[in-house]
Formats: sequence, structure tokens, C-alpha cells
Amino acid sequence: MQKKIKEESRELPVIGSYEVVVAGGGIAGIAAAVAAARNGAKTLIIERYGFLGGTVVSCPMPVVGGYNPEVHTGIMTEIIELLRKNDGVNREFYNEVIGGQMIEVRLDVLKEIAVEMILNAGGDILFHTWISEVMVKNKEIAGIIIESKSGRQAVLAKVVIDTTGDGDIAALAGAAFEVGRKSDGKTQAMTLYGPIMDGVDINKLLSFIREYKKTNPGEILEFIDEENVFAMSGFVSMIKNAREKGDLKLDYNTIWLNGKKDEGWAELSGSFVPDVSGTEVKDLTRAEIDSIRQISSMVSFVKKYVPGFEKARRRDRGSVCIGVRETRRIIGNYILTQDDLVGQRSFADVVARNSTAIDIHTPEGKQNWVRLKAYDIPYRCLISKDMGNLLMAGRCISVTHEALASVRFIPCCVVTGEAAGTAAALAVKQNISPVNIDVPLLQKMLNIHPGSTNGN
Ligand SMILES: Cc1cc2nc3c(=O)[nH]c(=O)nc-3n(C[C@H](O)[C@H](O)[C@H](O)COP(=O)(O)OP(=O)(O)OC[C@H]3O[C@@H](n4cnc5c(N)ncnc54)[C@H](O)[C@@H]3O)c2cc1C
Repeated sequence: MQKKIKEESRELPVIGSYEVVVAGGGIAGIAAAVAAARNGAKTLIIERYGFLGGTVVSCPMPVVGGYNPEVHTGIMTEIIELLRKNDGVNREFYNEVIGGQMIEVRLDVLKEIAVEMILNAGGDILFHTWISEVMVKNKEIAGIIIESKSGRQAVLAKVVIDTTGDGDIAALAGAAFEVGRKSDGKTQAMTLYGPIMDGVDINKLLSFIREYKKTNPGEILEFIDEENVFAMSGFVSMIKNAREKGDLKLDYNTIWLNGKKDEGWAELSGSFVPDVSGTEVKDLTRAEIDSIRQISSMVSFVKKYVPGFEKARRRDRGSVCIGVRETRRIIGNYILTQDDLVGQRSFADVVARNSTAIDIHTPEGKQNWVRLKAYDIPYRCLISKDMGNLLMAGRCISVTHEALASVRFIPCCVVTGEAAGTAAALAVKQNISPVNIDVPLLQKMLNIHPGSTNGN
């Protein structure tokens, strides 16, 4: 049995009293905080790192995947326009498999834009702060306990939005959540992004891929070869062969490769760590170590096996950490399923829409795609069934394992963030629980109306 100690109880300073506390400054939290503050609520966003953007920045995962301007409206469109206006976009291309625009953003610009959007809306930001406890009274969250260089403190809240990605607030409050596949609870594999290789002979590389595609049918799974952009996934038997010889330590039979033709670099991706939990610190540590080793072997592999990389050098990327695709999904008043997505089920309480494909990196090392048209996300998926004043947005909303594989993409995290933030502000204004707000009024504020997917 694990040894335990008893922690002494103590009084804590209350450093603020807010109408809306947004817990977690990832891409969903940014949208939630902007929406809540713009709609008049006294809002605080709390983030453990010293920047906003979450996985998008820390992984980093700079590619907004499956953006569809007819579906991802509001703050999502605003962010893209601000990025374009401020030289914050590296490249854009359409991806047929994922069903939308892929927009590679410049992370420093995104971080700046996010801070300014929140401050301009009148919101407050607290960086370098870990949320470690919640105060629950009568099935409501009365406040959040935080830890930082300033010690242990409390913040009071009327409504809390869980945008921790991991559903930390729900778990701390004792609200119901689910994890992983129905069959065995396993989640999608984790990935450490990169490496990026500079000094690649792009012409040599692309000629090799074109030839390889012809001579090895079915081995290049995807190949985008546009004017200045390229992306491919595959090299199945080459990978198997290298693994058998001990030249590669990858669990998957595919590597992903993309870059810009005129800049002479290529980003590789293929590190996958299955069977690890994003809410267990020992697993996270193992995932960091395993993925560093995989990346190192990927660098040696391309230099030895893939023409064009002979003189390439790995770019230094500083403080990146493992990318977690899936952890807790908080149970709401409705659980959105893959059938709802595929069947474009219409919901009377729709507050957000998405169209990005389902993309599952299975623990067995496969990638499964399901192409989708625009589908509804009902408000009930953003309200915890157990805590009266807890909303959620981003990748911890109330969906199944399969539906999460579409919902987790950046555009959808932003639209659910905007919906939750707007709903929270409305609840505060009307002095009622989020579950009782006037949903048609919320839909009007979000400019989203039932039955209008138009088969997009
Ligand atoms: C490897 C990988 C590849 C991906 N590829 C793509 C892609 O190509 N395109 C795409 O659109 N999406 C992609 N995604 C998905 C997408 O990046 C994420 O699902 C999305 O960014 C999640 O946003 P979020 O705001 O919900 O959560 P997160 O980004 O996880 O943000 C949560 C925030 O809360 C903070 N936080 C968490 N717990 C606490 C706590 N207890 N106290 C204080 N702060 C806390 C975190 O520091 C973080 O900033 C990918 C994801 C991964 C991992």
C-alpha cells in the first residue's frame, strides 16, 4: 500500500473574486476568456505556463487543422484574420483528408494576439499558476485553489469554465468523466512533434518521393505536392526494414514529412507513445523520454535512408514537450457520438459547429480517418451534468472517444470556447445557473441557428 501523510489545514489568502474563471489558457481557454469578458463578465484566465496557446505552443502544434470559414465563425475567423494581418501565417493549403484548410501559424504572433485579445476585452490573466484544488459547495464550484511562486492562494468564482484540456477542474470537483475507448479505456497515442531538419535538398527529396510512389504502390499514403508546399506520409516498408536492422525506434509504420520548397527545410513527425496516461506524471515522464529517443532515431534514419537529407541538420526548438491528444472527457448533459457527427444530427440547442475529420491515432499504431460534413455541437455537451456552475470547452467536452478525435482540432476548440464563454457571461448577467440560460438568446449572440448546417 502507498504510504500516506496528513496535510495540515490552513487559511489561504483570497486574491480575487471573479464572475467567470477560465481554467487553462490553451486555444479553447483563450476563446472562452475573450467571449466571457466581451460579454461583460469580470473574467480571469489562469494558466500554468507563462504564455497562452497550450498544446498549440508547447507541443508545438502550429497547424490549425481543417479550418472551414463557413463553419468556424466568430472568434476563430477573427484569430485567423489577425494572424494574417500581423504576418502570423507561414503557409496554407487545403487538405482533402481532413476536410479543410491547414493554416500553419507563427506561434510568437499567436501568443501576442491572444494576450491582447483578452486584455482588450477587459479580462485578467494569471500566468505561472497551477490549479491544484477546487472548493465545492452544494454541487457548485465556489472557488479555485492555486499554487505559484506566491504560494497557495484562492480565487472565488461564480462560473468556472474547464479548459484544462484534461478536465482537471471536473476531476478535482468530483464530477463524472470518461477516459479512452469503451472497450479498454485506452487513449490515443502521444507525440513529440518534430524534428525540423534544415539544409534539406528539397528537389532531391521530392524526386525520390515521386519515384518511390511509382515503384512502391500503396506505400505513400498521402502526398501533397503544391507550388511551394509539400507534405507526405508513408515509407511503410522502408521503415519496417530500418526497424528490423535496428536503425529506427518507431512504433508506427509511417512517418509524416512536410515543408516549404523555397526554404529548404522539412518537418518530420512519427514519434508515437501508446499506452500512456496524460494525467499520470510517471507516464508523462516516460512519454517524454521515449519520444526523445524516437526522434533521435528518426534523424539518423532519414539521413541514412532518405535522399535529400544527407547534409541536413536538426533545428533547435527549445522547450517543447510531449503532445497529449486525449485524456478526460467530462460528462455533460449530452454525450456527442460518432453517429451524430457522421449523420449530421441536428440539435435544437446547437451552439457550435465543426467539420474536421475524425483522426484517431490508435494505441495499436494505426491512423483511422473518417471524413465529415458540418455537424452540430449541442450546448448540453458544454455543461457538466454534476456541477451546477461548471462549463467546459476544448478537448475535454462531453463526447465519445471517437467524436473527440474530430472535436480536438484547433478550430473546434475555439468555437466551443466561444460558446462556453458567452454562455457563462449570460448566466452571470441573468444571475442563474448556466443550465437555465435562454438558449435561443445564446444562439442569437453566437449567430448560430438550429437546422442551418446546409449540408456543408
Ligand atoms: C501531436 C498532436 C498533433 C495535433 N495535430 C493537430 C493539427 O494538425 N491540427 C489541429 O487543429 N489540431 C491538432 N492537434 C489537436 C490540438 O492541438 C489540441 O487538441 C488543442 O490545441 C487542444 O486545445 P485545448 O485548449 O482544449 O487544450 P490544451 O491545449 O491542452 O490547453 C489546456 C491549457 O490548460 C493549461 N492547464 C492544464 N491543466 C492545468 C492546471 N491544473 N492548472 C493550470 N493550467 C492548466 C495547460 O498548460 C494548457 O495551456 C494535435 C494535438 C497533438 C497532441
